[in-house]
Amino acid sequence: MEQCTHRQSLEIEKHIAIGAKGEAFNVGLYYKRTLLQGLENLYCDLCSKCGTVISVYVDQVDRKWLKD
Ligand SMILES: [Zn+2]
Repeated sequence: MEQCTHRQSLEIEKHIAIGAKGEAFNVGLYYKRTLLQGLENLYCDLCSKCGTVISVYVDQVDRKWLKD
């Protein structure tokens, strides 16, 4: 069972999408596709007691990630 490291809370809200203000924004990690770049969405697990973001992750890990 996942716990908040700050206050030992068990009230963890999972898989919350990360966004940005504005109309056409997505926040995520870019990866290579055949023609276009793909964007894998980022998600958070959040402690609903103190607001600490426990972890940030993507669903698909088998991507060819774009790097500098
Ligand atoms: Zn907490």
